[in-house]
Amino acid sequence: MELLDGKATAEALKQDIAAKVDEIKAAGGKVPHLAAVLVGNDGGSKTYVNNKVLACERVGFDSTLIELPEETSEEELLALVEKLNNDDKIDGFIVQVPLPDHIDEDKVTQTIHPRKDVDGFHPENLGRMMLGLPTHISATPNGIVELLKRNNIETSGKHCVVVGRSNIVGTPMSILMSRNANPGNCTVTMVHSRTTNMKEICASADILIVAIGKPEFVTADMVKQGAVVIDVGTTRVPDDSRERGWRLTGDVDFDGVKDKCSYITPVPGGVGPMTIASLMQNTLNAISMK
Ligand code: NAP
Repeated sequence: MELLDGKATAEALKQDIAAKVDEIKAAGGKVPHLAAVLVGNDGGSKTYVNNKVLACERVGFDSTLIELPEETSEEELLALVEKLNNDDKIDGFIVQVPLPDHIDEDKVTQTIHPRKDVDGFHPENLGRMMLGLPTHISATPNGIVELLKRNNIETSGKHCVVVGRSNIVGTPMSILMSRNANPGNCTVTMVHSRTTNMKEICASADILIVAIGKPEFVTADMVKQGAVVIDVGTTRVPDDSRERGWRLTGDVDFDGVKDKCSYITPVPGGVGPMTIASLMQNTLNAISMK
């Protein structure tokens, strides 16, 4: 088994982005500027947003972090989104999810201007991705594609099983893996909570991508010998041996599966860093979409 090292691959991608930013600076162009909006006090969300801001520093982008209290109304958040849409200094922005229950996430996503939607969640961007047109592709699936590409994983003609059908991971992932592209050209099966013969389908996958948020759900009997396993899940599970009292756990039983597969992503250090690097790539691309 070889580890698919998302941390190292993301670092290489960020180096490439930093080199492009240096070129832009040398030519007197505008430095990409990402804004991140965080509503409320969710610990996980705070960590993700802080990591995104740190990544901006690493690649030489400008960044703005806007922190709003939990009780921010939907109307106030939508007004901020409109302000960011019309702010020429900001090239792209994200509104970290999940949002508090009183705010309609879909409404917020649909209010973000597609050109500035560097998370790639807007219906127009999802539609353009479906058609293979240039667009912001959802950062996590796009990061996984980049991880496969930079690690020379052959995908053409393979059976790819995607577990989970969310709009931000599973569904776009299944489209990207089935497209006529490299990586891509897979025969894709998507499974979800209503799938009845999950074990058999997963065990027939050459490439198994799991995004369900159920710690260690995928066990060795669900994995084909020599499969490539991509674990998207990140769930905090209690762990008294850690000072902070928890550890991040993936959707795959890593220890049980690692000797059966050819490649596997660790959690943490696999898909997570690629998601952030991919967000940086989208922000850089946003400059030329004007
Ligand atoms: P989500 O919106 O909660 O969707 C979960 C999907 O998993 C749903 O489609 C659900 O099926 C399916 N599912 C749930 N239980 C299942 C089961 N027992 N068998 C088969 N399918 C099942 O989750 P998400 O946003 O896609 O995130 C999934 C995981 O990835 C979470 O742990 C999240 O934290 C993590 N994540 C990580 C990154 C990263 O950068 N590392 C980025 C995004 C998400 P139904 O549709 O039938 O309910």
